[in-house]
Amino acid sequence: LVSRKWKVDRTHLDLGDGVIIGDGTLSIMAGPCSIENEAQVQQTIDHLVAQGVRIMRGGVFKPRSSPYAFRGLGVDGLKMWHTLARKAGMKIISEVMQVSQIAEMHDYVDVFQVGARNTQNFNLLDELGRVDKAVMIKRGISGTIEELLYSAEYVFAAGNEKLLLCERGIRTYERASRNTLDINAIPILKEKTHLPVIADPSHGIGIREYVEPVALAAVMAGADGVIYETHQKPEEAASDGQQTLDFKESEKLIRKLRKVYELR
Ligand code: PEP
Ligand code: MN
Repeated sequence: LVSRKWKVDRTHLDLGDGVIIGDGTLSIMAGPCSIENEAQVQQTIDHLVAQGVRIMRGGVFKPRSSPYAFRGLGVDGLKMWHTLARKAGMKIISEVMQVSQIAEMHDYVDVFQVGARNTQNFNLLDELGRVDKAVMIKRGISGTIEELLYSAEYVFAAGNEKLLLCERGIRTYERASRNTLDINAIPILKEKTHLPVIADPSHGIGIREYVEPVALAAVMAGADGVIYETHQKPEEAASDGQQTLDFKESEKLIRKLRKVYELR
């Protein structure tokens, strides 16, 4: 069902209020790794609004390698974020980690993000297939392209066709970067499926200085959008600060992304 053999026309997702993904314009989604507090959310919204970015990312349920690390503000944080985002006309994408969170989060997100650790959580995918809301599925940490497509197939087959695919880097033998963003996956996914393809250069390389070139390469390779991490003070971020852009770097990236998109 997610194959272009089944549907030749490209899928685009209308999130409402003129925010459409995959319609031949570049989609930019940006925000902190974790939602931390009201001031942080408002500063991020102000930055994104000034740049004309309409979709904000942020985690309230965080999958952390260590159980002692910050694990997110939960639904209370999401509600606070939703109130501020709506005032600014912004859409929200946030990670859902388990089935019980779908109902809790439903009214406060525009896109459910399935994280790399849950790409093959098939019960979660089944349930997201029954929701009338967009879902972005990230490629698994060691997942193949085929496995990502089968994960999308779960959601689609259960009835939800509002799907986005995300290349976020895979674990390889290379340790010079956190992950290896698989540029190859972008044209392959675009050829194999009718779904919009989003690149996540932040998790894809994991090093702030290199997020920009990788993001630009992903767009040149055909990505419909980019999702990346930005924070007013990356060195103080509750998670993933090492790969997070400050607002000046974010502004520069947005400018270049739009230029590169036009060259395609
Ligand atoms: C995130 O987006 O902050 C995140 C945890 O991503 P991933 O699932 O790709 O590791
Ligand atoms: Mn992160």
